Amino acid sequence: MIIEGIGLDSSAKVAFQSHAHTDHFVSGNIIFSTKATKFLSHLKKGGFYKVVPFRKKFYIGDYKAKLYPAGHMLGSAQIYIEFDEFSLLYTGDVKWFKLRTAEKSRFRKADVLVIEATFGVPMYNFPSPKEAEKKLIAFVESTLDRGKTPTLYANQIGKAQEILKILDVHGYTVKTSRNIIKVAKIYEKFGIKFGNIDNNGEVVLRGFRTPKPRNSLSPHELYVSGFGNLKLSNHADFWELMRIIEKVKPEKIYAVYGYAKEFAKILNGFGYNAAVIEKDYCLYCHKNI
Ligand SMILES: [Zn+2]
Repeated sequence: MIIEGIGLDSSAKVAFQSHAHTDHFVSGNIIFSTKATKFLSHLKKGGFYKVVPFRKKFYIGDYKAKLYPAGHMLGSAQIYIEFDEFSLLYTGDVKWFKLRTAEKSRFRKADVLVIEATFGVPMYNFPSPKEAEKKLIAFVESTLDRGKTPTLYANQIGKAQEILKILDVHGYTVKTSRNIIKVAKIYEKFGIKFGNIDNNGEVVLRGFRTPKPRNSLSPHELYVSGFGNLKLSNHADFWELMRIIEKVKPEKIYAVYGYAKEFAKILNGFGYNAAVIEKDYCLYCHKNI
């Protein structure tokens, strides 16, 4: 969306890109992001990125702003902007709980909160990353015990590296794809090391661009996603979203992505002032861009 002329994960002359997933890519004369987001994005696209460290005051257009970790993947950021009449926090994709390969998220108070709602209905109640990790390792162990090769499917940017790191910590070698390794190499530049990538690895890790449907997975295969059969998610579930809102204490909430409509309705039922905002909406233009 565009707010006061500034693109928030939307293309505009002056834009902010929250993280390096392709559905958040933007173009613009100047794109503000973290250094990791710039490096990861440049694997797939060009563009002039102005790098901003977390918690450092800067100007975006005419307004003071700061980035805060969003906890969704390496380099993922929220942006806090002080507009003339109100302050605004845009979460991008966000996680309350700490993942091994993402910076720990931090939330601050703001008048207006624009929050993702990918999993914004109460049926999404994920295990904590620690619990999900235990399930993942139990699956790997039991599959190896049966003489099979555990095969994991995951988003190749972010989730795959999280799984790679978990398997490294637990001492498993991993055979994986060139694309996942390319991204992992950028993670290593930022201090997240992987000592377990091996062409003869015990575990196979694949991107899910061509996943099998969930119900056709073999017993030795696992689809790791909030939508998959192992819910190690790098998105907040409904209950994490509620915790974030309690921290930010906004007067106005805009829900975006996924279950935005349902989430806004639930929030209004709880007494919040919430509405939906479409990804391509211009908040003070009252039209789609
Ligand atoms: Zn994302």
